[in-house]
Amino acid sequence: MKFENSLAFAKQLDKNDPLKDYRKQFHIPKVKGKESIYFCGNSLGLQPKTVEQHLKAELTDWKNFGVEGHLHGRKPWLYYHHFFSKSISKLVGAKENEVVVMNQLSVNLNLMLISFYRPSGKRNKILMQANEFPSDYYAVEQQIKLHGLNPKQCIIEVLPRTGEVNLRTEDILEKIEKHKNELALIMFSAVNYYTGQFFEIKKIAAAANKHNITIGLDLAHAIGNVELKLNEWNIDFATWCSYKYLNSGPGGVSGVFVNKKYANTFSLPRLAGWWGNDEKARFKMPKHFTPQAGAAGWQISNAPILSMAAHKASLEIFDKVGMKALRKKSELLTGYLQYLINLHPHGSKPLFNIITPTDKTQRGCQLSIQTYSNGKNLFKKLSNAGVIADWREPDVIRVAPVPLYNKFEEAYRFAQLLKGITE
Ligand SMILES: *Cc1c(COP(=O)(O)O)cnc(C)c1O
Repeated sequence: MKFENSLAFAKQLDKNDPLKDYRKQFHIPKVKGKESIYFCGNSLGLQPKTVEQHLKAELTDWKNFGVEGHLHGRKPWLYYHHFFSKSISKLVGAKENEVVVMNQLSVNLNLMLISFYRPSGKRNKILMQANEFPSDYYAVEQQIKLHGLNPKQCIIEVLPRTGEVNLRTEDILEKIEKHKNELALIMFSAVNYYTGQFFEIKKIAAAANKHNITIGLDLAHAIGNVELKLNEWNIDFATWCSYKYLNSGPGGVSGVFVNKKYANTFSLPRLAGWWGNDEKARFKMPKHFTPQAGAAGWQISNAPILSMAAHKASLEIFDKVGMKALRKKSELLTGYLQYLINLHPHGSKPLFNIITPTDKTQRGCQLSIQTYSNGKNLFKKLSNAGVIADWREPDVIRVAPVPLYNKFEEAYRFAQLLKGITE
């Protein structure tokens, strides 16, 4: 599509947007009494209006039934995690018994590493992307130490080339090839939190599979943002959070994917608790742990119902809209914002530059704008003008036009603000 830099054109795109009505299903935060330009769904997604009634329903059941809600609530708490299998399996491209909703992301990352980082002899290394999210580094480092190994020797990082910010797939594949006999695991965020780069997971997974290297994904910035095919790509495990693009509330419940090939591999070491035990036997209080088949066998504690009720409300929206339609709008909306930002009249020295890949297949909806001087001041002025985005040290403003609730007009107004502030 040929874009135009005008309010009329942006409004026309909104008018033609088949998903335009979804915005009405969300609470849009205000700044100084006016609707903000909320470009921060990559960090905390907005609240669906239906969350309140879903939460109220559980509070009411708790009020009316007390403990009996476990069995006799409208959505019996005992089986609550089952209510997510269908929606989540569609979002990540999995079979229903390959996913379970539980815990928090970094906790799940640790649980998965316990089962799937199995260093043996020379094969004890973990391949990661440079500039990975700190929590992922911490988890990986500690897991390596738990095996009595040295993280400095066991983490292999893929770095961008000099003068570049994003990773080249060929460099990732070359690193895998070079270390194929030493790698126990490839642990990768599918979308990098800082640059917004969406990696070519299919190719990376094929290389991992070829050399029998376990591959795990962190989908924090990918789920609800890009289309995923974990099963088809033959990923071993994955985990994510639900409060970013999945709009399920601050600290919202996480989830994991465990490939069906491990559904009955009960010999894998894992941490355990009664919720992962064979469901039929759970209340017989058996003394020894018999894990359930599938991802559900990695559960530990009983489900946080209130947090999961918000998750349920949000996933009903995703069920309706579907990732295909969402991604289609996302590419157009992010493409439009990129086009507008790139029209910026910089003067003698450029003030900023988008570091996110320009190829729409290599990004989701986030654009990371690297600033060259006084970026923090620019960010503050944008905030004062009603933009909610985020600042990432040392110099990046991340903006995420989220297709579920952002408008083309907001992309236009954002670019106008940027221009007004820097002139
Ligand atoms: C957001 C994010 C996290 C956050 O972890 P929590 O356990 O949910 O606090 C971890 N890793 C990545 C890659 C993230 O983007």
